[in-house]
Amino acid sequence: MGPLPDRTDSAAGASAPATAAPAEAPDLAVLAAPFVALDGEQGSRLRLYRRLLAAWNDRFNLTAVTDPAEMDRRLFLDALRLVPALDEAARPPTGRRSAVRLVDIGSGAGFPGLVLKVARPALDVTLVEATGKKVDFLRHVVAELGLAGVEAVHARAEDLGRDPAYRGAHDVATARAVASLPALLEIAAPLLRVGGWGLFPKGLDLDAELAAGERAGRLVGTTIRRATRLGEAATRLVVVEKTAPTPARYPRRAGLPAREPLGGPRVPAPTGTSRRDVAADGAGVGDG
Ligand code: SAM
Repeated sequence: MGPLPDRTDSAAGASAPATAAPAEAPDLAVLAAPFVALDGEQGSRLRLYRRLLAAWNDRFNLTAVTDPAEMDRRLFLDALRLVPALDEAARPPTGRRSAVRLVDIGSGAGFPGLVLKVARPALDVTLVEATGKKVDFLRHVVAELGLAGVEAVHARAEDLGRDPAYRGAHDVATARAVASLPALLEIAAPLLRVGGWGLFPKGLDLDAELAAGERAGRLVGTTIRRATRLGEAATRLVVVEKTAPTPARYPRRAGLPAREPLGGPRVPAPTGTSRRDVAADGAGVGDG
């Protein structure tokens, strides 16, 4: 990894305003210490990432979460809370020597995928995002943080799921606030290898969504293993194993998994975020 610039963003090509985080901004590495140990360089990367997000968000509306303390809690720390489950899931099959591959679906401004890359730099990470301005931001952050082994792809995840370079190629899939569980499973399963894991943070009120997810999951080759509360966060982490190959007819064309979910009637809104976040962030809508 290259040297780490610890400075205010100049947003090459996008002239985002240079809004520094307040000097008293809490140290994310310290706040995250109860669930993940981060070294000084990782702490610096997260500080720079937070500053870039604040600067770009003023101008490009990358996330509906704008209050600095809420950004820390709901975006950075909730992503870091996934690390213990990620460590459990991120094991390559016996005999394979290449890096563990993680795909983050609907990454937005990089949550949780880019935070996980900072916490676990050896991962090979693909950030999939349908909205062009968010992909520009992701690429900018990756360059500014000097991260290697991470690509931001401007695409619908359904389309990548039919691309041989991505289908069945990942050990772990993550997604936060992107789609209801049945839609998410149809989108994520094709990207996972058999034996791979999905880690999907969701809200607390999840029973109907889990039942629909069980039904949809059977069709695409996944099994829900658990849905447990993540520490003090208002989040349940749904842990899903890919237990069988996904039939070639899945995923259906982009948009259909959310509009006509497998396994039963439509589940109203993605949990793990507020309805306001989803509307403001345009979940499911690409801007080309
Ligand atoms: N995961 C981020 C977070 O937690 O802050 C972003 C959440 S935002 C509510 C949902 C994002 O998913 C949007 O940026 C949207 O463009 C993207 N998205 C929704 N459906 C998608 C799909 N099928 N493929 C790729 N991106 C998608």
